[in-house]
Amino acid sequence: MDIYRVKPGAQVDLRQWDPDDKAMFDKGKSEGKKAMEKLNRRLEALQELLFAEGKRKVLIVLQAMDTGGKDGVIRWVFDRVNPQGVKVASFKAPTPEELAHDYLWRIHKHTPGKGEMVIFNRSHYEDVLVVRVHNLVPPEVWRRRYAHINAFERMLAEEGTTILKFFLHISKDEQKARLQARLDEPEKRWKFNVGDLGERKLWDEYMRAYETVLSETSTEWAPWYIVPSNRKWYRNLVISDVLVETLEGFDMRYPEPKENLDAVVIE
Ligand code: ATP
Ligand code: MG
Repeated sequence: MDIYRVKPGAQVDLRQWDPDDKAMFDKGKSEGKKAMEKLNRRLEALQELLFAEGKRKVLIVLQAMDTGGKDGVIRWVFDRVNPQGVKVASFKAPTPEELAHDYLWRIHKHTPGKGEMVIFNRSHYEDVLVVRVHNLVPPEVWRRRYAHINAFERMLAEEGTTILKFFLHISKDEQKARLQARLDEPEKRWKFNVGDLGERKLWDEYMRAYETVLSETSTEWAPWYIVPSNRKWYRNLVISDVLVETLEGFDMRYPEPKENLDAVVIE
């Protein structure tokens, strides 16, 4: 899955990243779903071990355009994990209290503790995405933020957090089809948000803002992955695979019992 990782310092042009790509799995959707089940089971075991060991912290950042599939990833990739050790933090438009502070204030308190995995559904990256596209602060203010974010994530990494960031890359046509489905299918209508149409008009501006994010903030300690996401099953497979490989690389162990249990007899 390294082909989807953005190398530090690379200049990203999203027109060169195909949202329909499926180079890492050419056996099709139904085989893909079987492979996914296996990965789900491995992730279940690894997350259990992460929790039991209680040493490492894992932060997963999900960013995407509307309908990009953040909710789908949370549902399908984390299908079997134990909710005790996994949390989701969703970042909406900031409250007045949040706006009264620096933009990382609300973020930091949701970062994972030892043994935890936290999924960010949107993140501090909104502060250089929507904020930039809508001119919510002057350019000189958001331009400084890439450096803050890299420093913040470096601090988290040096203090023991593994960070993985995923941009779910869909095409503008795919977004149209997904929005249309939300209009047409009664059980999807609740998801339709008229405001998303306004954001869709700003598609190109968002792509430019994402390109800067991906170019400026993919680092050794917190890499970005550009996940081809027009196919939902493939998107899930890519993310699961990266996660499973990362957790397997930890070489975790169940902790030793707190005292010697050899002589214990239960009557
Ligand atoms: P859903 O899939 O349910 O639509 P969502 O993540 O799109 O999920 P919404 O409530 O529709 O949730 O949208 C949240 C909105 O909050 C987004 O438009 C996002 O850009 C905005 N937002 C998030 N963080 C910030 C921020 N720091 N400043 C301004 N707007 C923000
Ligand atoms: Mg939305």
